[in-house]
Amino acid sequence: MAGTETKIPLANGKYVTAINFDNAATTPPLCSILKEIAQFSPWYASVHRGKGYKSILTSEYYENSRDVVRKFVKADKSDAVIFTKNTTESINMLAYALVNQSEQQVVLSTYMEHLANDMPWRDKFMLDYITLTKSGRLSLQDLESKLQAYENRVKLVTVAGASNVTGYVNPINKIARLAHQYGAKILVDGAQWVPHMPVDMKPVNSPEHIDYLVFSAHKMYAPFGTGVLIGPKETFEKAVPVYQGGGAVGLVSHQTIEWDNPPAKYEAGTPNMMGVLALTTAMDTLSKLDLNIIYQHERELIGYAINGLSTIPGITLYSMGNNSEERVSLISFALEGLHHSQIAEILSQEAGIAVRNGLFCAHPYVASLLNVSTEEINYYQTHEDKTIPGLVRISFGLYNTMREIDVFLNLLSHIATQRQ
Ligand code: PLP
Repeated sequence: MAGTETKIPLANGKYVTAINFDNAATTPPLCSILKEIAQFSPWYASVHRGKGYKSILTSEYYENSRDVVRKFVKADKSDAVIFTKNTTESINMLAYALVNQSEQQVVLSTYMEHLANDMPWRDKFMLDYITLTKSGRLSLQDLESKLQAYENRVKLVTVAGASNVTGYVNPINKIARLAHQYGAKILVDGAQWVPHMPVDMKPVNSPEHIDYLVFSAHKMYAPFGTGVLIGPKETFEKAVPVYQGGGAVGLVSHQTIEWDNPPAKYEAGTPNMMGVLALTTAMDTLSKLDLNIIYQHERELIGYAINGLSTIPGITLYSMGNNSEERVSLISFALEGLHHSQIAEILSQEAGIAVRNGLFCAHPYVASLLNVSTEEINYYQTHEDKTIPGLVRISFGLYNTMREIDVFLNLLSHIATQRQ
């Protein structure tokens, strides 16, 4: 892992090794990726743009990468694998592709989504939300009653594989079954899911098949700039892409456009070859390390952190779960009497620990966990009030250790005691 030994300055001028507990935002890059990029660089050339040896080689590598992605998430051979910039772009592109394609114009999102899987659906579809239980989990009962109430008008059920706020893993197989039973398709936002456990999109004829899957490379140990959108080719054959230009087309005159087939149709402009190389190398490395083992390791880390946090006076944990439930390696908490931004600042300035604080781009979800109304959030926003409620989130990657968690727990206990 590159950068995990980096020394950074504290408020007192001393240098310590940085501790990154903000992996849910972005993970550091794997050394295998940096090596691969260095090795590939002499062969670097534009994709699909020439008959030069290097261009052909680069183009071949780029195209073969789609199979690496398919294999990693067990996507169907017939699915289009489209390379995008990130999860947000993937979902926006899909929303534009799906609009007006059929009579079914209802999209069911959920109250636990990242804004990336909420906002793109708002202005194009009749959008409704699956409600949550008291503990912040999805209500499958509500999903089913909404599917029934809309009488086969639901086009898509769109849901996070795992929450970026609570770490809950949603019962995707059950949700897919229900959606299909009522003639809807399912999109899974895999941004917090795909990096942490083996994902299986299941065969097209399975009732548990995931129709669409999106995720980001920068949350799975590759650098920024690459996302993935997977789905049936027909979706993209029918629609006009939101980005238009060279690479997406055959012949173009002033009057006519001959669109290329997907995925090319959805990848206008020069493709991000190095980003795709980084993504596929990350997938290779994660597969070799074995995602089952990574999942177990991360579960141990989160279990250890939860146990430690539970003993600190004044801490409220969100998303405890019980041990048998699937969860990814993140947890959000609040400390009575101290604002979330102060906690994050102290952790950084006194021990070089990076955490995330605030509403985590999931404003409605965090607000509901905190029992804060939308009106209150609006008030803070319009008054630019810095005391806006929020949480602190710690999120682990495969390289984090219990020793790092001890450093964090010791400092947090100290903060909690001082505050009293
Ligand atoms: N969905 C979830 C669940 C996320 O956690 C994030 C980012 O934190 C996103 C979507 C957006 O990802 P990106 O910023 O890579 O587009």
